[in-house]
Amino acid sequence: MPKIHNFGAGPAKMPEDVYEAIREELTNFKGSGISLMETSHRSSTYMNFNTEIQDVVRRLLNVPSNYKILFLAGGGQGQFAAVPMNLISRTGTADYVVTGSWSAMAAKEAKKYGKVNMVLPPTDRYVGIPDQFTWNLDPNASYVHICGNETIHGVEFDFIPDTKGVPLVADMSSNFMSKKLDVSKFGVIYGGAQKNIGTSGVVLVIVREDLLNQALPICPAILDWTANAKADSILNTPPMFAIYVMGKCLQWIETKGGLDKMAELAAKKSSMIYDLIENSNGFYYAPVAKDARSKMNIPFRIGSEKGDEALEKEFLKGAEALGLIQLKGHRSVGGIRASIYNAVTVEEVEVLVKYMTEFYKKHAK
Ligand SMILES: *Cc1c(COP(=O)(O)O)cnc(C)c1O
Repeated sequence: MPKIHNFGAGPAKMPEDVYEAIREELTNFKGSGISLMETSHRSSTYMNFNTEIQDVVRRLLNVPSNYKILFLAGGGQGQFAAVPMNLISRTGTADYVVTGSWSAMAAKEAKKYGKVNMVLPPTDRYVGIPDQFTWNLDPNASYVHICGNETIHGVEFDFIPDTKGVPLVADMSSNFMSKKLDVSKFGVIYGGAQKNIGTSGVVLVIVREDLLNQALPICPAILDWTANAKADSILNTPPMFAIYVMGKCLQWIETKGGLDKMAELAAKKSSMIYDLIENSNGFYYAPVAKDARSKMNIPFRIGSEKGDEALEKEFLKGAEALGLIQLKGHRSVGGIRASIYNAVTVEEVEVLVKYMTEFYKKHAK
Protein backbone atom coordinates (compact mmCIF):
# COMPACT_ATOMS: atom_id res chain seq x y z
CA MET A 1 0.00 0.00 0.00
CA PRO A 2 1.35 3.48 -0.81
CA LYS A 3 1.85 6.05 1.91
CA ILE A 4 -1.54 7.66 2.54
CA HIS A 5 -2.09 11.40 2.16
CA ASN A 6 -5.50 12.38 3.48
CA PHE A 7 -7.10 15.44 1.84
CA GLY A 8 -10.52 14.83 3.42
CA ALA A 9 -12.75 17.77 4.36
CA GLY A 10 -13.73 16.48 7.78
CA PRO A 11 -13.26 14.54 9.88
CA ALA A 12 -9.84 15.39 8.56
CA LYS A 13 -6.19 14.54 8.97
CA MET A 14 -4.68 15.15 12.39
CA PRO A 15 -0.97 15.75 13.03
CA GLU A 16 1.09 12.57 13.42
CA ASP A 17 2.80 14.07 16.50
CA VAL A 18 -0.61 14.37 18.15
CA TYR A 19 -1.39 10.69 17.65
CA GLU A 20 2.02 9.91 19.07
CA ALA A 21 1.41 12.04 22.17
CA ILE A 22 -2.05 10.50 22.69
CA ARG A 23 -0.68 6.98 22.30
CA GLU A 24 1.92 7.74 24.97
CA GLU A 25 -0.52 9.20 27.45
CA LEU A 26 -3.81 7.45 26.71
CA THR A 27 -3.89 5.04 29.64
CA ASN A 28 -1.92 7.12 32.12
CA PHE A 29 -2.86 10.78 32.12
CA LYS A 30 -0.12 12.94 33.65
CA GLY A 31 1.04 10.14 35.91
CA SER A 32 -2.42 9.62 37.46
CA GLY A 33 -2.27 5.91 36.61
CA ILE A 34 -5.58 6.11 34.75
CA SER A 35 -6.79 7.54 31.48
CA LEU A 36 -8.36 10.98 31.39
CA MET A 37 -11.35 9.15 29.87
CA GLU A 38 -12.06 7.37 33.17
CA THR A 39 -11.50 10.43 35.33
CA SER A 40 -14.41 12.33 36.86
CA HIS A 41 -15.12 15.51 34.94
CA ARG A 42 -15.45 17.24 38.33
CA SER A 43 -12.01 16.11 39.51
CA SER A 44 -9.16 18.57 39.83
CA THR A 45 -7.30 16.51 37.21
CA TYR A 46 -9.95 17.23 34.60
CA MET A 47 -10.61 20.80 35.71
CA ASN A 48 -6.91 21.62 35.53
CA PHE A 49 -6.84 20.25 32.00
CA ASN A 50 -9.98 22.25 31.15
CA THR A 51 -8.25 25.44 32.32
CA GLU A 52 -4.97 24.53 30.62
CA ILE A 53 -6.69 24.17 27.25
CA GLN A 54 -8.73 27.34 27.68
CA ASP A 55 -5.44 29.14 28.31
CA VAL A 56 -3.96 27.73 25.10
CA VAL A 57 -6.97 29.04 23.15
CA ARG A 58 -6.58 32.41 24.86
CA ARG A 59 -2.88 32.61 24.00
CA LEU A 60 -3.21 31.41 20.41
CA LEU A 61 -6.00 33.83 19.48
CA ASN A 62 -5.12 36.53 21.98
CA VAL A 63 -8.67 36.29 23.36
CA PRO A 64 -9.51 39.38 25.44
CA SER A 65 -10.47 38.83 29.08
CA ASN A 66 -14.11 39.80 28.53
CA TYR A 67 -14.71 36.68 26.43
CA LYS A 68 -15.68 33.24 27.75
CA ILE A 69 -14.25 30.09 26.17
CA LEU A 70 -16.63 27.11 26.13
CA PHE A 71 -16.21 23.46 25.15
CA LEU A 72 -19.65 22.15 24.20
CA ALA A 73 -21.27 19.14 22.55
CA GLY A 74 -23.58 19.10 19.54
CA GLY A 75 -21.05 20.12 16.91
CA GLY A 76 -21.27 23.03 14.51
CA GLN A 77 -24.91 22.31 13.80
CA GLY A 78 -25.79 22.40 17.48
CA GLN A 79 -24.58 25.99 17.43
CA PHE A 80 -26.78 26.76 14.39
CA ALA A 81 -29.61 26.42 16.93
CA ALA A 82 -27.70 27.76 19.93
CA VAL A 83 -26.82 31.06 18.23
CA PRO A 84 -30.43 32.22 17.73
CA MET A 85 -31.59 30.73 21.01
CA ASN A 86 -28.90 32.67 22.88
CA LEU A 87 -28.96 35.92 20.92
CA ILE A 88 -32.16 36.62 19.00
CA SER A 89 -34.31 37.68 21.96
CA ARG A 90 -33.02 41.27 21.93
CA THR A 91 -34.91 42.28 18.75
CA GLY A 92 -36.37 39.01 17.48
CA THR A 93 -34.55 39.31 14.17
CA ALA A 94 -31.11 38.38 12.85
CA ASP A 95 -29.02 38.99 9.73
CA TYR A 96 -27.58 36.00 7.85
CA VAL A 97 -24.87 36.38 5.22
CA VAL A 98 -25.25 33.25 3.11
CA THR A 99 -22.11 32.46 1.10
CA GLY A 100 -22.46 28.67 0.83
CA SER A 101 -24.27 25.57 2.08
CA TRP A 102 -23.24 25.86 5.72
CA SER A 103 -24.40 29.43 6.24
CA ALA A 104 -27.59 28.54 4.32
CA MET A 105 -28.20 25.75 6.80
CA ALA A 106 -27.49 28.07 9.74
CA ALA A 107 -30.05 30.56 8.41
CA LYS A 108 -32.65 27.83 7.94
CA GLU A 109 -32.18 26.65 11.52
CA ALA A 110 -32.41 30.20 12.90
CA LYS A 111 -35.84 30.70 11.29
CA LYS A 112 -37.25 28.33 13.90
CA TYR A 113 -36.50 30.88 16.60
CA GLY A 114 -37.13 34.28 15.06
CA LYS A 115 -37.07 36.40 11.96
CA VAL A 116 -34.15 35.99 9.58
CA ASN A 117 -33.09 38.74 7.19
CA MET A 118 -31.12 37.48 4.20
CA VAL A 119 -28.30 39.97 3.71
CA LEU A 120 -27.42 38.77 0.20
CA PRO A 121 -29.67 38.00 -2.79
CA PRO A 122 -30.45 34.28 -3.11
CA THR A 123 -28.22 32.19 -5.39
CA ASP A 124 -27.44 28.54 -5.95
CA ARG A 125 -23.95 29.32 -7.21
CA TYR A 126 -21.66 30.28 -4.35
CA VAL A 127 -18.45 31.62 -5.87
CA GLY A 128 -17.50 34.65 -3.83
CA ILE A 129 -18.44 37.30 -1.29
CA PRO A 130 -20.33 40.31 -2.70
CA ASP A 131 -18.90 43.74 -1.86
CA GLN A 132 -19.96 44.92 1.54
CA PHE A 133 -21.56 48.13 0.24
CA THR A 134 -24.19 45.93 -1.49
CA TRP A 135 -25.16 44.11 1.71
CA ASN A 136 -28.71 44.52 2.99
CA LEU A 137 -27.93 44.79 6.71
CA ASP A 138 -30.77 45.44 9.13
CA PRO A 139 -29.68 47.95 11.81
CA ASN A 140 -32.26 46.35 14.13
CA ALA A 141 -30.77 42.85 13.86
CA SER A 142 -29.77 41.14 17.11
CA TYR A 143 -26.64 39.86 15.38
CA VAL A 144 -25.04 39.27 11.97
CA HIS A 145 -24.05 35.68 11.19
CA ILE A 146 -21.32 34.74 8.71
CA CYS A 147 -19.52 31.52 7.86
CA GLY A 148 -15.80 32.31 7.93
CA ASN A 149 -15.01 29.47 5.55
CA GLU A 150 -17.52 27.57 3.45
CA THR A 151 -16.09 24.07 3.54
CA ILE A 152 -18.09 22.75 0.57
CA HIS A 153 -17.82 25.73 -1.80
CA GLY A 154 -14.33 26.89 -0.79
CA VAL A 155 -15.40 30.48 -0.09
CA GLU A 156 -13.46 32.14 2.73
CA PHE A 157 -13.67 35.62 4.25
CA ASP A 158 -10.35 37.44 4.02
CA PHE A 159 -11.77 40.42 5.92
CA ILE A 160 -13.89 41.10 8.96
CA PRO A 161 -17.16 42.75 7.89
CA ASP A 162 -18.20 46.04 9.45
CA THR A 163 -21.58 45.40 11.07
CA LYS A 164 -22.03 48.94 12.44
CA GLY A 165 -22.05 47.86 16.04
CA VAL A 166 -24.35 44.84 15.64
CA PRO A 167 -22.63 41.78 17.17
CA LEU A 168 -20.85 39.66 14.56
CA VAL A 169 -21.17 35.87 14.90
CA ALA A 170 -18.85 33.61 12.89
CA ASP A 171 -18.94 29.90 12.17
CA MET A 172 -15.26 29.00 11.83
CA SER A 173 -15.65 25.23 11.88
CA SER A 174 -13.26 24.75 8.99
CA ASN A 175 -10.75 27.57 9.45
CA PHE A 176 -10.50 27.94 13.24
CA MET A 177 -6.84 28.30 14.24
CA SER A 178 -5.60 28.66 10.67
CA LYS A 179 -4.73 32.35 11.14
CA LYS A 180 -4.68 35.16 13.71
CA LEU A 181 -7.95 36.98 14.26
CA ASP A 182 -8.92 40.18 15.99
CA VAL A 183 -11.36 38.49 18.35
CA SER A 184 -12.52 41.86 19.70
CA LYS A 185 -14.28 42.48 16.37
CA PHE A 186 -16.57 39.49 16.99
CA GLY A 187 -19.42 38.86 19.41
CA VAL A 188 -19.19 35.09 19.07
CA ILE A 189 -16.89 32.69 17.23
CA TYR A 190 -17.64 28.98 17.11
CA GLY A 191 -16.47 25.86 15.35
CA GLY A 192 -16.59 22.09 15.49
CA ALA A 193 -13.17 20.57 16.10
CA GLN A 194 -13.13 17.80 13.49
CA LYS A 195 -11.80 19.87 10.61
CA ASN A 196 -8.81 21.85 11.74
CA ILE A 197 -8.37 21.26 15.47
CA GLY A 198 -9.15 17.68 16.42
CA THR A 199 -11.90 15.10 16.29
CA SER A 200 -15.69 15.29 16.25
CA GLY A 201 -17.71 15.66 19.44
CA VAL A 202 -16.69 19.09 20.67
CA VAL A 203 -17.43 22.58 19.47
CA LEU A 204 -15.30 25.49 20.64
CA VAL A 205 -17.29 28.63 21.42
CA ILE A 206 -15.81 32.03 22.22
CA VAL A 207 -18.46 34.48 23.43
CA ARG A 208 -18.32 38.08 24.62
CA GLU A 209 -19.62 38.36 28.16
CA ASP A 210 -22.13 41.15 27.50
CA LEU A 211 -23.97 38.80 25.10
CA LEU A 212 -24.76 36.33 27.86
CA ASN A 213 -27.97 36.34 29.94
CA GLN A 214 -30.43 36.77 27.09
CA ALA A 215 -31.21 33.20 26.02
CA LEU A 216 -34.77 32.36 25.04
CA PRO A 217 -36.63 30.54 27.84
CA ILE A 218 -36.96 27.46 25.59
CA CYS A 219 -33.17 27.16 25.17
CA PRO A 220 -32.03 23.76 26.48
CA ALA A 221 -29.50 24.15 29.28
CA ILE A 222 -26.82 22.26 27.34
CA LEU A 223 -27.00 24.83 24.52
CA ASP A 224 -27.27 27.81 26.86
CA TRP A 225 -23.94 29.68 26.79
CA THR A 226 -24.69 31.46 30.07
CA ALA A 227 -25.37 28.26 31.97
CA ASN A 228 -22.31 26.60 30.46
CA ALA A 229 -20.08 29.60 31.17
CA LYS A 230 -21.21 29.62 34.80
CA ALA A 231 -20.45 25.89 35.03
CA ASP A 232 -17.07 26.32 33.28
CA SER A 233 -18.13 23.83 30.57
CA ILE A 234 -18.95 21.00 32.97
CA LEU A 235 -22.68 21.61 33.22
CA ASN A 236 -23.08 17.98 32.19
CA THR A 237 -20.43 15.40 31.32
CA PRO A 238 -18.53 17.08 28.50
CA PRO A 239 -17.20 15.15 25.47
CA MET A 240 -13.94 14.56 27.30
CA PHE A 241 -12.12 12.50 24.71
CA ALA A 242 -12.86 15.04 21.97
CA ILE A 243 -11.81 17.90 24.24
CA TYR A 244 -8.64 16.00 25.12
CA VAL A 245 -7.76 15.47 21.45
CA MET A 246 -8.56 19.10 20.64
CA GLY A 247 -6.31 20.16 23.50
CA LYS A 248 -3.46 18.09 22.08
CA CYS A 249 -3.96 19.63 18.63
CA LEU A 250 -3.97 23.16 20.04
CA GLN A 251 -0.80 22.48 22.03
CA TRP A 252 0.76 21.11 18.85
CA ILE A 253 -0.11 24.33 16.99
CA GLU A 254 1.56 26.30 19.76
CA THR A 255 4.77 24.24 19.66
CA LYS A 256 4.84 24.56 15.85
CA GLY A 257 4.97 28.35 16.05
CA GLY A 258 1.36 29.39 16.61
CA LEU A 259 -1.13 30.94 14.24
CA ASP A 260 1.31 33.12 12.29
CA LYS A 261 3.11 29.94 11.28
CA MET A 262 -0.17 28.13 10.45
CA ALA A 263 -1.22 31.10 8.29
CA GLU A 264 2.13 31.18 6.52
CA LEU A 265 1.89 27.47 5.75
CA ALA A 266 -1.75 27.75 4.63
CA ALA A 267 -0.81 30.56 2.22
CA LYS A 268 2.05 28.53 0.83
CA LYS A 269 0.12 25.25 0.48
CA SER A 270 -2.97 26.84 -1.07
CA SER A 271 -1.02 28.92 -3.58
CA MET A 272 0.87 25.82 -4.73
CA ILE A 273 -2.49 24.37 -5.84
CA TYR A 274 -4.17 27.57 -7.05
CA ASP A 275 -1.09 28.56 -9.07
CA LEU A 276 -1.10 25.21 -10.81
CA ILE A 277 -4.81 25.60 -11.56
CA GLU A 278 -4.24 29.11 -12.95
CA ASN A 279 -1.39 27.92 -15.16
CA SER A 280 -3.25 24.96 -16.64
CA ASN A 281 -4.89 26.85 -19.55
CA GLY A 282 -8.34 26.04 -18.23
CA PHE A 283 -7.71 22.31 -17.83
CA TYR A 284 -8.26 22.76 -14.11
CA TYR A 285 -10.98 25.23 -13.18
CA ALA A 286 -11.42 26.86 -9.77
CA PRO A 287 -14.86 28.51 -9.60
CA VAL A 288 -14.31 30.88 -6.67
CA ALA A 289 -13.33 34.55 -7.16
CA LYS A 290 -9.67 35.12 -6.30
CA ASP A 291 -10.28 37.38 -3.29
CA ALA A 292 -12.57 34.79 -1.66
CA ARG A 293 -10.61 31.60 -2.34
CA SER A 294 -10.32 29.38 0.69
CA LYS A 295 -6.89 28.50 2.03
CA MET A 296 -8.38 25.37 3.62
CA ASN A 297 -10.68 23.76 1.03
CA ILE A 298 -9.93 24.00 -2.68
CA PRO A 299 -12.76 22.83 -4.93
CA PHE A 300 -12.00 22.51 -8.64
CA ARG A 301 -13.25 20.91 -11.84
CA ILE A 302 -11.29 19.13 -14.54
CA GLY A 303 -11.63 19.48 -18.32
CA SER A 304 -14.04 22.41 -18.33
CA GLU A 305 -15.92 24.85 -16.14
CA LYS A 306 -18.72 22.30 -15.72
CA GLY A 307 -16.30 19.44 -15.28
CA ASP A 308 -15.69 16.37 -17.42
CA GLU A 309 -17.00 13.64 -15.16
CA ALA A 310 -15.13 10.83 -16.88
CA LEU A 311 -11.83 12.70 -16.49
CA GLU A 312 -12.61 13.53 -12.87
CA LYS A 313 -13.34 9.91 -12.16
CA GLU A 314 -10.05 8.91 -13.71
CA PHE A 315 -8.27 11.61 -11.71
CA LEU A 316 -9.70 10.29 -8.43
CA LYS A 317 -8.88 6.69 -9.31
CA GLY A 318 -5.28 7.56 -10.17
CA ALA A 319 -4.96 9.66 -7.04
CA GLU A 320 -6.16 6.83 -4.83
CA ALA A 321 -3.68 4.44 -6.41
CA LEU A 322 -0.97 6.85 -5.23
CA GLY A 323 -2.42 7.11 -1.71
CA LEU A 324 -3.99 10.54 -2.27
CA ILE A 325 -7.40 10.01 -0.71
CA GLN A 326 -10.72 11.72 0.06
CA LEU A 327 -10.33 14.18 -2.83
CA LYS A 328 -13.86 13.78 -4.14
CA GLY A 329 -15.90 16.99 -4.10
CA HIS A 330 -18.98 17.20 -1.89
CA ARG A 331 -21.90 15.32 -3.46
CA SER A 332 -23.88 18.55 -3.80
CA VAL A 333 -21.28 20.22 -6.04
CA GLY A 334 -19.31 17.35 -7.62
CA GLY A 335 -15.79 17.70 -8.97
CA ILE A 336 -12.68 17.55 -6.83
CA ARG A 337 -11.92 19.16 -3.46
CA ALA A 338 -8.53 19.24 -1.79
CA SER A 339 -8.73 20.07 1.91
CA ILE A 340 -5.40 21.19 3.30
CA TYR A 341 -5.88 21.90 6.98
CA ASN A 342 -3.09 22.58 9.49
CA ALA A 343 -2.11 18.91 9.74
CA VAL A 344 -1.53 18.49 5.99
CA THR A 345 2.14 19.15 5.29
CA VAL A 346 3.81 21.08 2.47
CA GLU A 347 5.40 17.80 1.37
CA GLU A 348 1.98 16.18 1.04
CA VAL A 349 0.73 19.08 -1.05
CA GLU A 350 3.83 18.66 -3.22
CA VAL A 351 2.83 15.05 -3.87
CA LEU A 352 -0.65 16.20 -4.91
CA VAL A 353 0.68 19.00 -7.11
CA LYS A 354 3.06 16.59 -8.81
CA TYR A 355 0.19 14.21 -9.56
CA MET A 356 -2.00 17.07 -10.83
CA THR A 357 0.83 18.26 -13.10
CA GLU A 358 1.35 14.79 -14.54
CA PHE A 359 -2.37 14.28 -15.04
CA TYR A 360 -2.56 17.61 -16.84
CA LYS A 361 0.36 16.77 -19.14
CA LYS A 362 -1.20 13.45 -20.01
CA HIS A 363 -4.69 14.77 -20.78
CA ALA A 364 -4.46 18.42 -21.82
CA LYS A 365 -5.15 19.01 -25.47
C1 LIG B 1 -18.65 20.74 9.15
C2 LIG B 1 -19.21 22.07 9.31
C3 LIG B 1 -20.33 22.31 10.13
C4 LIG B 1 -21.11 21.21 10.81
O1 LIG B 1 -20.40 20.64 11.81
P1 LIG B 1 -20.99 19.41 12.66
O2 LIG B 1 -20.02 19.35 13.76
O3 LIG B 1 -21.01 18.24 11.75
O4 LIG B 1 -22.35 19.79 13.11
C5 LIG B 1 -20.76 23.61 10.28
N1 LIG B 1 -20.15 24.63 9.65
C6 LIG B 1 -19.08 24.43 8.85
C7 LIG B 1 -18.42 25.60 8.21
C8 LIG B 1 -18.58 23.15 8.66
O5 LIG B 1 -17.52 22.96 7.87
